[in-house]
Amino acid sequence: MLPTTTYRTAAFVEAARRIGVDLTVASERPSTLEAAIPAGLVTLPLDDPKAAAEKAALFAQEHPIAAVVGVDDDTVIVASSIAQRLGLKSLPVHAATAARDKYLQRQQLAQAGVPVPRFMLRPIEEDPAALAKTISYPCVLKPVRLSASRGVIRADNPASFVAAHARLRAILRDPANERECGVRATNYLIEEFVPGYEVALEGLVVNRRLHVLALFDKPDPLDGPFFEETIYVTPSSVPVGLQSAIKDCAERAARAIGITEGPVHAELRYNERGPWLIELAARPIGGRCSAVLRFGDPAISLEELVLRHALDLPIPSLQRERLAAGVMMIPIPGAGTLEEVRGVAEAKAVPLIEDVQITAHPGERLVPFPEGSRYPGFIFARGETPAEVETALRTAHRRLEFILA
Ligand code: ADP
Repeated sequence: MLPTTTYRTAAFVEAARRIGVDLTVASERPSTLEAAIPAGLVTLPLDDPKAAAEKAALFAQEHPIAAVVGVDDDTVIVASSIAQRLGLKSLPVHAATAARDKYLQRQQLAQAGVPVPRFMLRPIEEDPAALAKTISYPCVLKPVRLSASRGVIRADNPASFVAAHARLRAILRDPANERECGVRATNYLIEEFVPGYEVALEGLVVNRRLHVLALFDKPDPLDGPFFEETIYVTPSSVPVGLQSAIKDCAERAARAIGITEGPVHAELRYNERGPWLIELAARPIGGRCSAVLRFGDPAISLEELVLRHALDLPIPSLQRERLAAGVMMIPIPGAGTLEEVRGVAEAKAVPLIEDVQITAHPGERLVPFPEGSRYPGFIFARGETPAEVETALRTAHRRLEFILA
């Protein structure tokens, strides 16, 4: 399931090619090539999982399907609906749905005793001034169904709560965000702010068991008020005992929401009270970031691993390569129209830098957090140690210059 807006197409198409499977790309918009390659392209209503499953079932009568894979939060729900309809391996639809909805997810995790921040769901049109006096600080306001930290804002006192609320309300009123949030566009979450160090866990659930593919440190502090990601680097320098507590926490979370099969990407924090589950997604890491991961020797990509798992093909190795690796989601340099990016060749020339991908194009409007969440590009590095990798990413980033109008 490759929606037209995804960054994931090239990696998944390449993985399918390497495995040698026949690939059908399902997208929400018809392609002019569809008539020419009827088995290779299909248009499905990706915003309506039930209708998509019916249409996919008809398609499958002509062109048998062995596995269905979603690439992001929404298409994972569609993929699980189709898989259920066709009797294929998948996580259940209710699990994909709970992974997508931050409120449902919090409820199910809290019920199962997984450590999550205290939370409450409120109507966005409610007057924030009175409410602001009744809650404890610091807290986090967040939309129920947006992603990449869009609209996630920390508030430290009643005045900043009221200001954050106004900003979030405007974000939820934006038609594109409103569409994405669906029935949740009129609500938002208020959560206790969990202080601590944040890590990201990339995993694959095989028959209910979580295999950790990589644990990423996030060396830049994420204390708000907005939560723009920057550097991910692996292996993690978190002590081994704590790593296993983090894994247990993620595994309990996956079980609590019913993820029985497939990739997971989790954000966790830890502090003196142990690990906390901030968010669990039933999909692989987003954006272009997956290029940082390679498994086994000869190396295979994360996408190949995900496809092999879905197809019940042998997986040569779940072991990440020996080298340290990192990615920087390039911080949004400001608000404005991108004219030009300078220094890309100089950034690529920094030792250990593997690639610099600028995904924003000239003429694109860059919108900083919390209203925006589209990074202008990604920097990749590999080396002997995580510290060297981190330094290389920062050095390369300093060589880039974004010219905005
Ligand atoms: P999204 O799915 O949009 O990325 P998250 O709920 O994962 O939204 O929040 C994004 C980031 O905001 C997290 O990675 C974390 O850094 C921060 N964050 C979110 N909720 C909390 C919380 N309750 N306490 C502390 N930090 C939080």
